[in-house]
Amino acid sequence: MAGSNEWESAVTQFRKAADILKLDESIIQFLTSPRRIINVSIPVRMDDDSLKVFQGFRIQFNDLRGPTKGGIRFHPDVDMEEVKSLAFWMTWKNTVVDIPFGGAKGGVICNPKELSQNELEKLSRGYIQEMYQFIGPEKDIPAPDVYTTPQVMAWMVDEYHKFTGHNVFGMITGKPLEMGGSHGRDIATAQGGVFVLEEALKKFGIKNPTVAIQGFGNAGLTAAILLAKKGFKIIAVSDSKGAIYDEKGLDVDKVIAHKNKTKSVVGFSGKELSNEELLELKCDVLVPAALANQITDVNANNINAKIILELANGPVTPQAREILFKKNIMSIPDILANAGGVTVSYFEWVQNNIGYAWSKEEVETKLKVKMIEAFDNVYKVYKEKNIDMGTAAYVFAIEKMDKILELRGIKKIHR
Ligand code: NAD
Repeated sequence: MAGSNEWESAVTQFRKAADILKLDESIIQFLTSPRRIINVSIPVRMDDDSLKVFQGFRIQFNDLRGPTKGGIRFHPDVDMEEVKSLAFWMTWKNTVVDIPFGGAKGGVICNPKELSQNELEKLSRGYIQEMYQFIGPEKDIPAPDVYTTPQVMAWMVDEYHKFTGHNVFGMITGKPLEMGGSHGRDIATAQGGVFVLEEALKKFGIKNPTVAIQGFGNAGLTAAILLAKKGFKIIAVSDSKGAIYDEKGLDVDKVIAHKNKTKSVVGFSGKELSNEELLELKCDVLVPAALANQITDVNANNINAKIILELANGPVTPQAREILFKKNIMSIPDILANAGGVTVSYFEWVQNNIGYAWSKEEVETKLKVKMIEAFDNVYKVYKEKNIDMGTAAYVFAIEKMDKILELRGIKKIHR
């Protein structure tokens, strides 16, 4: 994965906001340096009786606002630079939505598609065996990410139980409902995105928008379902094989059925497009929900949407955000647009701590309040300072963090 590009983008965006706030260089260095990096080797006895050693890591970037929080990614190409960017983004995401967590992320270099269930379970348990002393409900709370599922979380919480001698559901989130999970966690990222999108649509005075979605996995597909339910017209969707387009609107349920049958959206009725063409379609709302670095200074001038909802992490570069801003296109930044997932993870942790489960409706109402509040806060900075929403989100979050640095006496050390 293109970890170093992402880190460069992450720091460029951060510095842009830090410059507006005239942040001291020493504080910039402090806030862009991860607090702790943990590297582990995880030995797994494979089904054929051979022994294989997997490399795992976790970066606890910043814990000044609370225990660190972020998912664990199982992927053959995951690398430290990528995890560093993701842990950094988690720090600012949690600050933007004002939940009392710092930022972290973890990864294991492996190909889950080539592992049996038995091997996957051993690897998941092995990660906890190596990491258990560094994580916990008051230290660092992992969650699912690419190729890690509620079942993986269940194995991990069970393994942690063995080390502590008692059940600690709050050590991890994204668990199955039967094991301390929260209602609404499965759809939370897309749901949170929909709440902020609705606020943006009100600002633009757009009703019944047309929508194009890049990526038809957990985030993109769920967004398509929720947006179609609201009566929005989904005119294009895509996956790694290509894009489909129908200006009259796609029947999302039928596209999902087609994808379940054929493993791709491609081949469904309507016109076929490339992923690049999808990004440049004329529509009200564009939702990049697949990969990083999709809208850059190369194609930003060709974007024909009015609002971009950055559901993926890092899909729009800081340079592109600036170009889009000049074209009066609002790009709702990832650290706001996709913060619904970690927000409901926070609700899961709270429910575990108080030993009481909220209903689906309660979770949804609380998520809506958090997301609208965060949108309003970022929008205020965007208007006041006349800067793009991405930079505005960082300005808002850095100011919040700066106050903590002052209260903890960290700034004084540098003066
Ligand atoms: P996923 O693996 O479930 O889905 C990814 C989708 O993108 C798949 O449909 C895949 O076919 C498609 N894709 C891959 N390459 C593509 C390409 N070149 N063009 C178009 N589509 C392509 O992953 P996900 O969980 O939906 O995550 C997607 C993005 O959202 C990632 O950046 C992730 O970090 C971010 N995100 C997800 C969550 C969550 O809760 N799922 C939370 C926060 C952020």
